[in-house]
Amino acid sequence: MTDELPTDTALTDTALTDTAATDAQPIKTSLPKTAASWLQQAKFLTSSPTFKGCPPDMGLEVAFAGRSNAGKSSAINKITQQRQLARASKTPGRTQMINYFTMGREDQRLVDLPGYGYAQVPEKMKLIWQKELEKYLVARQSLVALVLVMDARRPLTEFDQQMLQWANQAELQTHVILTKCDKFKRDPARKLLRETEQRMQALGLKCSVQLFSSLNGDGVSDLQHKLTEFLEQPLQSAEPDGAQAS
Ligand code: GDP
Repeated sequence: MTDELPTDTALTDTALTDTAATDAQPIKTSLPKTAASWLQQAKFLTSSPTFKGCPPDMGLEVAFAGRSNAGKSSAINKITQQRQLARASKTPGRTQMINYFTMGREDQRLVDLPGYGYAQVPEKMKLIWQKELEKYLVARQSLVALVLVMDARRPLTEFDQQMLQWANQAELQTHVILTKCDKFKRDPARKLLRETEQRMQALGLKCSVQLFSSLNGDGVSDLQHKLTEFLEQPLQSAEPDGAQAS
């Protein structure tokens, strides 16, 4: 089975208007209506190769980390409904950079951390980067949560466990997404989720876990809601039950 995602995923165009208003004319509002429409506003802010070069440490940010090829870029593109957003972090030279995105306000940020285990990076660079990553996770005041991206077929690698330990020590909320869950049928996917939760418990690691697929959209809405909670994003009104971002 191929890993490739189709490139022609349709983008949803969500209007930021209040259609429930009593007036015949919809009222324009600055508050997004749904988690999906809020995340759709994501824009590239800046890149930095070091912890020191990060933008001012104010507001709130959620960082995405994970092993290279786990599906981190696809997940960021999927939840923001932008095919190219996380592309910046894929271009040579930017692979080892911390990439920042905002959702209309600079005090709410998503951060794309470099994928670890990237084959083309020399060992010395990997060690330098590991130190930068540790500094970032421990010292960054605006970092309120970590989303750790794991390929559902290879969850909890040694480095994943190390990341979770750092995050737990730093008392950082952590949410794990098990990507490419479309590779499993429904029951085996659920079993895998339970087993991963049990392994984490046995290792004394505290975090929430969910299944995710950038291919068929499973878990997209759950992750979008999780991000609104982490970044304390007020929404105009609740999404209808079972709403799923495409
Ligand atoms: P990154 O290195 O962690 O940013 O990984 P990418 O997002 O670039 O994905 C690596 C490969 O996995 C690409 O070929 C993607 O098309 C594929 N991929 C990513 N997410 C999924 C998914 O949910 N399902 C499937 N089947 N493939 C995926």
